[in-house]
Amino acid sequence: MNIILLGPPGAGKGTQAQRLVDNRGMRQLSTGDMLRAAVGAGTPIGLKAKAVMDRGELVSDEIVSELIDAELAAMDADSGAIFDGYPRTAAQAGMLDTILASHDRKLHKVIELEVDEDALVDRITGRFTCANCGAGYHDRYKQPETEGVCDVCGSTEFKRRPDDNEETVRTRMQEYRAKTAPILPIYEQRDLVERVDGMASIDEVSEAINGLLR
Ligand code: ADP
Ligand code: ADP
Ligand code: ZN
Repeated sequence: MNIILLGPPGAGKGTQAQRLVDNRGMRQLSTGDMLRAAVGAGTPIGLKAKAVMDRGELVSDEIVSELIDAELAAMDADSGAIFDGYPRTAAQAGMLDTILASHDRKLHKVIELEVDEDALVDRITGRFTCANCGAGYHDRYKQPETEGVCDVCGSTEFKRRPDDNEETVRTRMQEYRAKTAPILPIYEQRDLVERVDGMASIDEVSEAINGLLR
């Protein structure tokens, strides 16, 4: 099974992808995570992407599609892929079709997380992750069970993304509206789109997604 999780920044794509990884053994392919790793490692792609990401704009279609292609090439054929934050433009959607075909895969579903825009700034400015294992948390909606200690790995180091500030979030939301939302009709025509209420609790959203994948 290969699925796309689609939704604006802060919709809960990463949170739900992580649950699918834990519960179904699928693989999460997050272009945001791949780009942040490249920035951290100071690779040529990272050096190019950093300023664009800090502004909240989109990195080039070619760069992110190459990252996805490389990840799929390294994956074993039986593991399902969860595309998280990719595709984000009509051009990327076209490239994904080509890439999937070249790896003998097909797209099974596009799950759209529907959220109120007002909630997104709040979600994103409260977001933090474990610096060691990457587990996701929120200042109000998902605190670690023991304050200051990661539930998953016990680390006491956490981090926040430099682009998770209100100003950049506004740009990212505009980018989503202008470039990403318009790809939904492409998938609607192919009858692939399922909608989930992303304003429900994290557990409820997971249940709804599991229901769709049964
Ligand atoms: P995305 O990957 O779509 O940008 P995340 O999964 O990182 O979004 O979620 C953004 C923030 O909102 C995180 O801090 C996460 O813990 C929190 N969050 C995710 N889903 C929900 C939800 N259903 N209700 C409340 N908070 C949520
Ligand atoms: P979020 O889900 O919170 O919007 P991501 O982690 O998916 O954030 O992406 C962070 C940034 O990385 C984006 O604002 C953009 O600059 C870049 N990026 C990630 N995925 C893509 C993509 N598919 N196409 C272009 N740029 C991307
Ligand atoms: Zn951790």
